[in-house]
Amino acid sequence: MNKATPELDCLYSARAANIKQSAVRDVFDISMREGLVSLAGGNPYLQSLPLEKLGTLAHDILAQEGMTALQYGNGQGTSELREAICHVMAEEFILDASPENVVVTAGSQSALDITCKVFCDPHDVVLCEDPTYVGALNTFEANQVAVHPVRVDEHGLVPEALQEAIVALRAEGKTVKLLYTIPSFNNPSGITLSAERRQQIVNICKQEGLLVIEDNPYGMLKFEGEFNRPMRADNPEDVLYLGSFSKIFAPGLRVGWALVPERFQRRFYLANEAVILCPPTLNQMLVTSYLENHDWKGQVATYRELYAKRCAAMIAALEEFMPESISWTVPEGGFFVWLTLPEGVDTYPLLHTGIEAGVVFIPGAAFSPTQENPNKLRLAFSAVDEESIREGVKRLAPVLIQAIAA
Ligand code: PMP
Repeated sequence: MNKATPELDCLYSARAANIKQSAVRDVFDISMREGLVSLAGGNPYLQSLPLEKLGTLAHDILAQEGMTALQYGNGQGTSELREAICHVMAEEFILDASPENVVVTAGSQSALDITCKVFCDPHDVVLCEDPTYVGALNTFEANQVAVHPVRVDEHGLVPEALQEAIVALRAEGKTVKLLYTIPSFNNPSGITLSAERRQQIVNICKQEGLLVIEDNPYGMLKFEGEFNRPMRADNPEDVLYLGSFSKIFAPGLRVGWALVPERFQRRFYLANEAVILCPPTLNQMLVTSYLENHDWKGQVATYRELYAKRCAAMIAALEEFMPESISWTVPEGGFFVWLTLPEGVDTYPLLHTGIEAGVVFIPGAAFSPTQENPNKLRLAFSAVDEESIREGVKRLAPVLIQAIAA
């Protein structure tokens, strides 16, 4: 546009070349358009939150402890919230967590960034599920970390494939540091890692000197029955656990946490301080007050029931409208269903056709560091009501059928 542009480009770091907008953000504005059914974004449903009560809680915090709430705070997070987080994790069988080892972060997204900063040099390898969370891919790539996807089947990450990948990458001279995994209700696949494999996978990582990063934002959104036991529950020294209030409370507050193995705790917390100084004080106090003064477990139960119904509506609509050549996962929790079309179909250009037909989804390639999975796509059922889910799937079916026939 002007002569200065190339010179300005010279100022960019090599890292900046890897910073890109996620496919989910790409369609964020489009998906807000009137008349479109968005099955794209995994936004939690917030309408059932007790807004008036939250207003009172926020008012009380400001009236009674305003100077603290608006002041800088401890870089590790308030001790009250860290204590409360230990109680939250106890619901998911993590019974030995100490507030000392909890670091409050600006959502688990910032915990992922701090993880990269603490553990990875440029070109170090992080292993992950194929497919995996697009926001994690963006963070890893922005930190110049090489991401290597590992095969997944209907029971989650395949232990043999993990072992093979570690051996093969090391034979190529690569430094493999971390396994990043979303064991329960994976984003985007909806797949859950079986209980049996969880320990097998931790054992492999332990033996090979890898740290497991267990990202569990959807764990409590299991539709039915007892929560899945996180890998961290039995492996306090070998798993760095990430939790978040985004899906069980409110993502706009940007409050998440890391439960860090003792030996890494200090460095992790210092890195958190270097990046965000301190997590937002008012928001931490509001989350603490919400946990203390509201039936938050009842709220989670409401969400579990709501998302179970929405998921069932999506599966029913897929059964009603999709042809036999398309298959999909049936999740036991979380927000997402993952569709597989016949080989050779690319879902990326279908995004446009879908929008013309009044429905938005996320193409599969977005969830792979190497743009694999072109014949897959992600549908989210969290943010739309059952009727709209059916309508969205109904609109999507002819788009996919036409692409398969072409
Ligand atoms: N991990 C996964 C698997 C996610 O799906 C998301 C959000 N979509 C995040 C992390 C980031 O969550 P937060 O809002 O806590 O930053």
